[in-house]
Amino acid sequence: MIRYCSRLLYSGCSSFSTTAAVAASTTTTATATETATDTKTKDTKNMVGISKEELNRQLTENHQFQPYRVNQVWSWLYNKGQRTFDNFSNLSNVQRDTLNKHYHIDYGTVEKDQLSVDGTRKMLIGYAGQEVESVFIPEARRGTLCVSSQVGCTFGCTFCFTGTQKLVRNLTAGEIVGQVMMARSLMNDFGHTTEKRLLSNVVFMGQGEPLYNYRNVSAALRILTDPSGLSLSKSRITVSTSGVVPLISRLGQDFPGIGLAISLHASNNKTRSEIVPINQQWPIEELMQACRDFSTLNTNKITIEYVMLRGVNDSDEDAIQLAKLISTFPSLVNLIPFNSWPGAPYQCSTTEQIKRFAAVLDRAGLKVTVRQPRGRDILAACGQLKTESVKIKKTLPGPPSPLD
Ligand code: SF4
Repeated sequence: MIRYCSRLLYSGCSSFSTTAAVAASTTTTATATETATDTKTKDTKNMVGISKEELNRQLTENHQFQPYRVNQVWSWLYNKGQRTFDNFSNLSNVQRDTLNKHYHIDYGTVEKDQLSVDGTRKMLIGYAGQEVESVFIPEARRGTLCVSSQVGCTFGCTFCFTGTQKLVRNLTAGEIVGQVMMARSLMNDFGHTTEKRLLSNVVFMGQGEPLYNYRNVSAALRILTDPSGLSLSKSRITVSTSGVVPLISRLGQDFPGIGLAISLHASNNKTRSEIVPINQQWPIEELMQACRDFSTLNTNKITIEYVMLRGVNDSDEDAIQLAKLISTFPSLVNLIPFNSWPGAPYQCSTTEQIKRFAAVLDRAGLKVTVRQPRGRDILAACGQLKTESVKIKKTLPGPPSPLD
């Protein structure tokens, strides 16, 4: 069965807002920036992004907090979304002073906040002189935040706008979690039960390759899924990779139940090596084996992302090959009509060919969805995210180790 969905399912998102929406969002930006700046203090640590274990160690060993007090701090921070220690009302004055003296709470600074005509919201958030984009996609039964894991990207996928921006640096765990906190704060989404939250899902499909920043991404995942804090179910989080094979099993082992998406985009090595260059390092056969291994650890279907590029990867033969390739593990294929960007070297497949391609997969017994683009008017659709950071900072000399 072929389904048409609007879920954001891979790297990049975007679109344009109406004049009114932009004006409204500009006001929001100023307010959020002011609040964030007020919470920063020189020579103090940002509490956002410190693991629960480490926070417990620091507060109990250095500042004589009892463990139950640490739990209260954690709850104010992540459950209630409180950004001022003075409002942690069940702590003593001395404890609040201690927190103010040694820590601050910083989600980042909203540099720009755009609202698409379809409700998609793209936020440009500044972290230590760099900017990244996160995109919120509201739907009837869920709200998904697409977060970035790096400033720029080293992988250079040829259909992806982010891929034209060199890697500047990895985001820290605090900067990744900060994107979620910022989005929830801007939407007044704290203080609701899990069922009533606007932000219910998180996908690591913004700028960057999450498995090339595994240390910080895994630290962020532990904070996002902590039941006494943000309490996001692992099944509501999807990590998307272009194929960092050695870390796919590791992700499954470290986070059983988490969603995995593979940016496959081609069914043979020749085409894939051209449009997803990391394929030269880890070819399709190794990637498919990693998917099979992941499936033994995790019963969730693996999402196969496939961008539809006219005359490049969209023939009936490509569809037949794709069906064969992924038949050995549970999967869901998400066909993504190509979202163009300035200077893009590709065109989107025709609607007719996308339907034919989907029909071949459907006949092979695969579950298929065709992504309905969201936020195209603010360049928030898949593959369209790019910030200006590269223009103001020198790029790193080469690709980092996946664990850096
Ligand atoms: S698709 Fe993902 S891995 Fe490839 S260049 Fe874009 S952000 Fe990087």
